[in-house]
Amino acid sequence: MPIFTPGRRWQPAYSPFKKESFGNAVLENLEYAIKGPLFGCRMCGNCLLQETAFICPMECPKGLRNGPCGGSTPEHCYVDKTRPCIWYKIYDRSFKMGREEKLLEVLPPLDWEKVGTETWGDVVHCVKTNGTGNVIKSIVLNQGENRWKTWDLVFRKVRQPDWWKGDDQYHAPAYTEPVSNLEKKLKAGEFVVACEIAPPLSMATKKLIENIELVKPYVTAINFTDNASATPRMTSWACSRFAVEKGAEPVMQIAARDRTRASLQGEILGATALGVRNVLAITGDSAVLAPAPRGRMDINDMDAIQMLWILRKMRDEGRYLDGREIKTPPKFFLGAAAAPFASDPKFQAIREHKKVNAGAQFFQTNLVYDIEGMEIWLNELGKRDILDKVYIMIGITPLKSAKMSKFMTQVPGVFVPKKILDRMDAAAKAGNEQEEGIQIALELIEKVKGYEKQGIHGIHIMPVNWEDVVPRIVTEAGLLPKDFVPPAPKVEKVPA
Ligand code: SF4
Repeated sequence: MPIFTPGRRWQPAYSPFKKESFGNAVLENLEYAIKGPLFGCRMCGNCLLQETAFICPMECPKGLRNGPCGGSTPEHCYVDKTRPCIWYKIYDRSFKMGREEKLLEVLPPLDWEKVGTETWGDVVHCVKTNGTGNVIKSIVLNQGENRWKTWDLVFRKVRQPDWWKGDDQYHAPAYTEPVSNLEKKLKAGEFVVACEIAPPLSMATKKLIENIELVKPYVTAINFTDNASATPRMTSWACSRFAVEKGAEPVMQIAARDRTRASLQGEILGATALGVRNVLAITGDSAVLAPAPRGRMDINDMDAIQMLWILRKMRDEGRYLDGREIKTPPKFFLGAAAAPFASDPKFQAIREHKKVNAGAQFFQTNLVYDIEGMEIWLNELGKRDILDKVYIMIGITPLKSAKMSKFMTQVPGVFVPKKILDRMDAAAKAGNEQEEGIQIALELIEKVKGYEKQGIHGIHIMPVNWEDVVPRIVTEAGLLPKDFVPPAPKVEKVPA
């Protein structure tokens, strides 16, 4: 058990995929012999230890390098419940060390050229560049912040390569004219409704088109998930294209789990050329939630924060990650998922702050059934002064049955209060579960509307294959769009 990284199992270190010089190989083995037992080092070659409270983040089964995912809990990792959430440990220790603001820095994805190789060579190079004597004197003689400054001088270059140059600053969108109706309405201060439609499980699109037509008049935008629960379905961009063709406005969800940095950049150009103007960047559920045989569960090429950073730079700087120019940069309104009930509200607030800095202009939260808990999270965001930089839509899922309400307690990042579980149990006995589920959803929406002046700008209905209920909920919640046009009454075909 490594000294500094709490509760870790021994995981294999990465090996360089190219033959290394004798000198490098010696340095690598020395580095591993020391950092392995001390920090559980996996020789990723892109060391972050000084940023992550000397706990190696590479234990995270998603390979996240920018903070806890939406399934993080104080007790365990949701992917592997036999281990703690390493990012919860990192945030917990950073707060204890008073270094939580260091967690705001947007850290790069792995440079796979360096994976398996040593980092100490880079450190020695940075020390020499800054003057060995100066560095040693400054670290030995200085105290507190001055010492950290020298530390940072040396290690920033190691963790922030020239192709990334991440920081902890807010980067405002480099355009003013809204690029989508969703952005336009949010900017105009309208309390908006977005709704999720589950993509088809086959190439048949009849139900998809019906659902798009059904909800289109009642919502401002329609989300299409991207292999939710890591379970294959029709791609989000294809469903988004059908929505565009039907005159509806899609929000294309894109999960880092199924992308490389190359496919991400290619896909965003394709999707925006097909008319998509809203993009929701998510890390994506782990393959542990997928039906067997499961895919990779040990690493993602990127996390959601790195995706936001790459996409924002493509749009605002017209540059690919590799630096090549994009003659006609893609246009899109960029969003991210937020998790009010994951890990700890103040930890999630840092994570959400980082997403806003990286490029998130709107949040769609995980499901909310506990308004008090939502308020605590919202206040933590308020303390970080980001509520004027991001539009927030609260996730609402109407419960169809008592069984479903119990299932929701097992969904990572979702908290269902006992009083709601009891109401659904009582409704099950009374035989009116669906009606009770709708009433609970309407009550939650009414309470969420009460936070319009405190940073909430709308709701995001995730009906989980119950799209039929959306028109009723939006109408009874008094949230019909300002430009609402009642759908033409269905003409029943009379058989000849
Ligand atoms: S809960 Fe999420 S962030 Fe934490 S270790 Fe597991 S996968 Fe990583």
